[in-house]
Amino acid sequence: MADRTVEQHLAAVLAVARPLPPATVPLPEAAGLVAGADVECLVDLPGFDNSAMDGYAVRAADLLGATSDAPVRLSVVADLAAGDAPSRVIGPGEAARIMTGAMIPEGVDTIVKVEDTDAGMPLVGVLVETPLGTSIRRRGEDLPAGGPVVAAGTVLTPRHIGLLAAAGHASVAAHPRPRVAVVSTGAELVAPGEAVQPGQIHDSNSYLLAALVDAAGGLTAYRGTVGDRPDEVRDLLDHLATEVDVIVTSGGVSMGVHDVVKGVLRERAEVDFVTVAMQPGKPQGFGVLGERRVPFFGLPGNPVSVFVSFEAFVRPVLRRLAGLEPAVASTTPVRLTASLRSPAGRLQFARASVHRDPQDGTWLATPVAGQGSHFVADLAAADALLRVPAEVTHLQAGDVVESILL
Ligand code: AMP
Ligand code: MG
Repeated sequence: MADRTVEQHLAAVLAVARPLPPATVPLPEAAGLVAGADVECLVDLPGFDNSAMDGYAVRAADLLGATSDAPVRLSVVADLAAGDAPSRVIGPGEAARIMTGAMIPEGVDTIVKVEDTDAGMPLVGVLVETPLGTSIRRRGEDLPAGGPVVAAGTVLTPRHIGLLAAAGHASVAAHPRPRVAVVSTGAELVAPGEAVQPGQIHDSNSYLLAALVDAAGGLTAYRGTVGDRPDEVRDLLDHLATEVDVIVTSGGVSMGVHDVVKGVLRERAEVDFVTVAMQPGKPQGFGVLGERRVPFFGLPGNPVSVFVSFEAFVRPVLRRLAGLEPAVASTTPVRLTASLRSPAGRLQFARASVHRDPQDGTWLATPVAGQGSHFVADLAAADALLRVPAEVTHLQAGDVVESILL
């Protein structure tokens, strides 16, 4: 069978991904999530007319002719802090001392700031005429009760969280973070921190994937390794399909005799093992597992393939489950500082380090030396993936190529 293109495989994986049903999420956990419903304001914002200044609440008409040489004197009959409910009406010739945020008492129409007075008590001298209505914040002028706080589909920024709290909401309906299980397969794997025996390597993929999931707004609900025993792998995957929203394995999907993931799932109608015209990341398993039809990614084992496959396929699915547009940020044109070879017929995701040209601000990209899919040090050193089109086999210094900045 002919290889799928990257676009075809992405379409196939997105075809089974649906946004997770909205859940009630406490505000402290909601930043970064997508609102699942329209939310209305429960109170007027501001909730009542209040002072914008520390000063005196007065009648503007009392201040006519006030100057620093001839202050108008008013008797201060109330002292209002934020949180106080005024208990009396302020009459002609009277004032209330008032702090920022305190409720405006009846009878007054203007706030004169303390700097425009002699700050006196119990008699205050006002030094300037002050226009009617100065420094009063009006009830509901920001957002009235019932007004729109967030619309369904809004990505909740810290500013939205602040608004939701001001509007009286302790929680919000939002698409939850997708819970993801990441599983490394392979008899050669030992945990980092343990000594490797001859032939063994440290499992790095499950740590790479868990960190990618968490950075992408998901929640790593399970991280582990399994060996090459088919029944063990099958039991673990079937169990995880009852618990999580997405399962990502690495290893065991290509042509080897011990390729256990492919071995235990290839007979299932809901899982396909295909080749995608890309480098790295050619062998890909994808389907759904269990009654909950949990999206399953069987990624190849090489760490660079895992990373590229995550960016190309897993991240868009996590975004859709979270209620976001699956498309990731657009690509950026970069100019090569060195030549680069690329395989015919496969979209290459070449790793490169980028910096801005100090002269004209454009991006310059230097491909990393190790383009093989096992070069984890060069992967870590890279900060861009160059998308070299399938038909391109050779690029020279100075050529421009679209890239994903990491
Ligand atoms: P596989 O796809 O299982 O044939 O593995 C391809 C290559 O990736 C082999 O060199 C494996 O040893 C390596 N590999 C597989 N799984 C991991 C892992 N979890 N961490 C690091 N390397 C791995
Ligand atoms: Mg293997």
